[in-house]
Amino acid sequence: MSEPGHEQERRCGFVALIGAPNAGKSTLLNQLVGAKISIVSRKVQTTRTLVRGIALQGEAQIIFVDTPGIFAPRRRLDRAMVASAWGGASDADVVALLIDARKGIDDEVQEILRSLEGVKARRVLILNKIDLVARPSLLELAAAVNEKLAFAETFMISATNGDGVVTLKDHLAAMMPTGPWLYPEDQISEAPIRALAAEITREKIFERLHDELPYQSTVETESWEEKSDGSARVEQTIFVTREGHRKIVLGEGGRTIKAIGTAARREIAEAAEQKIHLFLFVKVRENWADDPEHYRTMGLEFPKN
Ligand code: GDP
Ligand code: MG
Repeated sequence: MSEPGHEQERRCGFVALIGAPNAGKSTLLNQLVGAKISIVSRKVQTTRTLVRGIALQGEAQIIFVDTPGIFAPRRRLDRAMVASAWGGASDADVVALLIDARKGIDDEVQEILRSLEGVKARRVLILNKIDLVARPSLLELAAAVNEKLAFAETFMISATNGDGVVTLKDHLAAMMPTGPWLYPEDQISEAPIRALAAEITREKIFERLHDELPYQSTVETESWEEKSDGSARVEQTIFVTREGHRKIVLGEGGRTIKAIGTAARREIAEAAEQKIHLFLFVKVRENWADDPEHYRTMGLEFPKN
C-alpha cells in the first residue's frame, strides 16, 4: 500500500481536547475516532497523560490526550490534578477548547479562557451543539470568545449529527507536525481502555491490600467483548507471585476479590461509559526458582544459593 517516500509525508501530534463537563467532548471524540473510545477515570489521570483516542486522517495521526478537571479546582487534590492537566495541555501541539454554544461563555468557560492564556500550544475554538443554536448567535459567540482570547481558528460543529466534524478533522490533521506515527494503525481503539481497565483494577487491589501484597502483582485485561446490548464482558487476570498472595487477594470466602471486583467494575463502567460485566481471575505466575513457599509446600528446603 505505501509507496517509497511515503513515511516522510506522515504527520503525528497531540491534541488536548478541553471543555467544561457536558460540552460534548466524549461525543466529539467518538465522532473523530470513529469507534467507541473510552473516557478515563480522574484518579488514574493524575499519574499520566492518557490517550483518549487516535484519529487517522489521510497521512496524519491525531492523538487526543486527556486533560481532566481543568476548571475551578476546589480541593488540594483537584489543584494538583489541574497542574498536571495544564502540563499536558502545554505539551500538546494543539489545544482545542470545546464550548457548548447553547450555554455560551459561563463561569467555567471564563475560567478556562483565563488559564489558556499561559498555554503555548496553538489554540483552536470549537463551538459545539450548533444544531440547537441559531446562526447569528453562533457568530456573535465566536466573536465574543475570540475577543477574550484569540484562537488560531474557530470551528462550528454538531458532535451528535457530525456537522462540521470532517472539516475540523482535516484542519487538525494539517496542524500536526510531520513525523512518524506513534501508534500502529490497527491497534488504536482497543488498547487504551483495556490498559486503563487493568490499571483501575490494580488500583482497587492496592487500596485494600497495600500492606499485604508486593507490588510485583499485575493485572492484565485478557478479553473485552462488546455485547449487542451495548455492555461489555471483560475478563481480567490478577497475577501474583505466590500461592499465599493468591489467598490474600481472594480473601475469606472470596470476599476480598468480590469487593475489588465491585469497585473496579463501577469505575471501569464509568471510564468506558457502558455497562461492564467484570470477571476476575487470580493466577500464580510461575516463579518457582526464587519462591521459598513452593519448596516448603513440597516438603523441601529452600536452597540457600
Ligand atoms: P462531555 O462531558 O464533554 O464528555 O460531554 P458529552 O459528550 O458526554 O455530552 C454531554 C451531553 O451533550 C450529552 O447528552 C450529549 O448527547 C450532548 N451533546 C453532545 N454534543 C451535542 C451536539 O452537537 N448537539 C446536541 N444537541 N447535543 C450534544
Ligand atoms: Mg464525557
